[in-house]
Amino acid sequence: MPTFQSLGLEENFLRAISDLGFEAPSEVQEKTIPLLLEKETDLVSLAQTGTGKTAAFGFPMLQKITAESRTTQGLILSPTRELCLQITNELKAYGKYVDGLNIVAIYGGASITDQAKKIKKGAQIIVATPGRMKDMIGRRMIDISKIEYCVLDEADEMLNMGFYEDITEILSHSPEDKSTWLFSATMPKEVATIARKFMHTPVEISIGTKNVGAENVSHEYYLVNARDRYKALKRLADANPEIFSVVFCRTKRDTQKVAEQLIEDGYNAGAIHGDLSQNQRDMVMKSFRTRQIQMLVATDVAARGIDVDDITHVINYQLPDEIETYTHRSGRTGRAGKSGVSMVIVSKSEHRKIKTIEKIIQKKFVQKEIPSGMEICEHQLFHLATKIKDTEVNHEIDMYLDGINEILTDFSKEELIKKVFSVEFSRFYNYYKNAKDLNVTAGDTSTGSDAPGVRFFINLGARDDFNWMTLKDFLRDLMQLGKDDLYKVDVMDSFSFFNVEEKHKELVLDVFNSFKLNGRRITVEISKDGRRKGGSRSGGKGRKDGHKKGRKSDDRPKFKGKSRRKPQRPNDRGTGGKRRRR
Ligand code: ADP
Ligand code: MG
Repeated sequence: MPTFQSLGLEENFLRAISDLGFEAPSEVQEKTIPLLLEKETDLVSLAQTGTGKTAAFGFPMLQKITAESRTTQGLILSPTRELCLQITNELKAYGKYVDGLNIVAIYGGASITDQAKKIKKGAQIIVATPGRMKDMIGRRMIDISKIEYCVLDEADEMLNMGFYEDITEILSHSPEDKSTWLFSATMPKEVATIARKFMHTPVEISIGTKNVGAENVSHEYYLVNARDRYKALKRLADANPEIFSVVFCRTKRDTQKVAEQLIEDGYNAGAIHGDLSQNQRDMVMKSFRTRQIQMLVATDVAARGIDVDDITHVINYQLPDEIETYTHRSGRTGRAGKSGVSMVIVSKSEHRKIKTIEKIIQKKFVQKEIPSGMEICEHQLFHLATKIKDTEVNHEIDMYLDGINEILTDFSKEELIKKVFSVEFSRFYNYYKNAKDLNVTAGDTSTGSDAPGVRFFINLGARDDFNWMTLKDFLRDLMQLGKDDLYKVDVMDSFSFFNVEEKHKELVLDVFNSFKLNGRRITVEISKDGRRKGGSRSGGKGRKDGHKKGRKSDDRPKFKGKSRRKPQRPNDRGTGGKRRRR
């Protein structure tokens, strides 16, 4: 087994390593540290998340710079503020025995003047997000003309976020002869291009699939109808009472919506995405770390900074657009030697993507069934039994025991057990007693075209600035319908179609009996022939816009109408609160 002592690190770093409790170097550390210490070279290192890349570049950089000098000698670029802070903290811990070391984090959303002041004191190492870094170079607040080492961390992610131009601009202010070390979990062409353009015959290291984390992760998928996604998510949560998970959605909007719905349904949930202020994000993360939040619904970008070790489940509520991103997602679990499960809820149209992912991760998925209502009830009951068995008696209750015993005096142990368990059971039973099977088989041909319910025509369309999502929200809000009560929304230019369950038919007709929008009469009609049932989603751009590559991917176009977002106050929700189910 390799040791840190054999890598060529100085005594003070070995001391820091032992303080940190690291016992042996990880593979990427073992391969990278001696190499970078020994020679000045460019490097491309491919390794998954959680493999210890920060130390792999951090120690060599710290050992090679001159702490006595105040000149900026090292620059680390990373995609998000969270990662930036995480790296800064790690590096500070690695260099805790180095006198005079000053490492400064540079990122957006915080005071630029404060950051400039810190730089002015002399920072040997700067850890930065590309956007803010470029700004500060432009304003001559930072001088990187003398750096010797430049790290591009999570290069694939930075390029995904559209930072290519910023990176190019930043590097043009740095010396030609510096060493560039690039780290990435995946190697899309964009990363190869960067490597070609900015590096001189880099040494390439690949840690392959030997991600210590990922080895402990099992991959499961659940095939459901797209409109049952949310119900499926709830069942997965209910079947795993101790779940501590990150739920990934594709857009900020969906992230917010799913989290709100979960909270409404009584789960300890929270959202994290780019529309929240830094303050809100910090609060959500704090609640997650302290387990007040059990289900953290996140966008890919926002989740990059999640460095929580005990996540039991990663749930892919929707698959990412960039299939490579799946690796990042599943890497959130199975860390620090624990095992984890990565679950994917897929609709039939996405089914084939599972195969593509299998190729990338070089692991097989297991297809699983969404548990039935009764299975969940059973699960919850046994969970309760175990919980009762393991509960330590709180003696604060002693003084009430006489009174309680008096009330329950006529019951035997058997009867008491039945009653206690009925309390819990009824809660789930009432919710699940009529629950249907959510599983579909890959061969099912039931696409939306024979979707159940009543199909309506409405004289609103793309011309009125609606797309299928905004129209769906508009109609649901207007009629106060639940999440799954309105579906199959197809937007044409001047009119649209949508379905509701039979039982809501009268409601729809009622609401539109005399409805006006901006002075115009809006009418609905039951669509008789259903010829247009499978119509194309001409206004459906809203769904895709956010997934284009580009920096703006997290600044999704704002939807018209009122914002449905309400601020999360996860701290108001104690873990002790009873979970309420609809
Ligand atoms: P990556 O950048 O590859 O995703 P990190 O550098 O963030 O991974 O490391 C992941 C976690 O593992 C961090 O909490 C870090 O402190 C820890 N770690 C890094 N190297 C070791 C090691 N050799 N032994 C134990 N823990 C380590
Ligand atoms: Mg990292």
